Amino acid sequence: MKIKIFKGDITKLKTDAIVNAANRSLLGGGGVDGAIHRAAGPELLKECRTLNGCSTGEAKITKAYNLACKHVIHTVGPVWSGGNYDEDQLLKSCYKESIKLAEKYKLQSIAFPNISTGVYRYPKEEAAEIAIKTVRKQLAKCKHLKELVFCVFDDENFKLYNELL
Ligand code: ADP
Repeated sequence: MKIKIFKGDITKLKTDAIVNAANRSLLGGGGVDGAIHRAAGPELLKECRTLNGCSTGEAKITKAYNLACKHVIHTVGPVWSGGNYDEDQLLKSCYKESIKLAEKYKLQSIAFPNISTGVYRYPKEEAAEIAIKTVRKQLAKCKHLKELVFCVFDDENFKLYNELL
């Protein structure tokens, strides 16, 4: 089992699945969500409309259309509200449920963005600690997944993931 760091745009990755840090509507937004929808093309939004949204901490899978990967796993991270609103459990659940879904579809590789650390303002160090701890624990239970990529976009996350891994 390999855990890698890639710095750059997640839409360029050719892993079996890339994870989208979506919002509960699943109808697109800014940040990584906007980039994924732009690169996948309008068919992605069409499929997302059939899913009836997604709760915070849960995950849903779609095809990837014009993207280089095969599937997009959409998960909804918590908005940071100071730390007393189960943000840590919800963030943990995003990573766990996304990996469970990838495993259910027998996928061999998956790439994650730094969920909730953009517009949703989750403190980056705490988010990175949760992400790494959760994926390690969950990957130990997987039969199909062989590779996991943390796709970092900014220098701060790049530094954090390098240190923590
Ligand atoms: P959230 O609402 O969950 O905070 P954002 O999209 O605002 O979602 O940010 C999540 C993370 O994704 C941030 O660390 C941001 O820098 C990063 N990000 C933004 N665009 C991309 C992209 N094209 N590829 C990978 N990561 C990205």
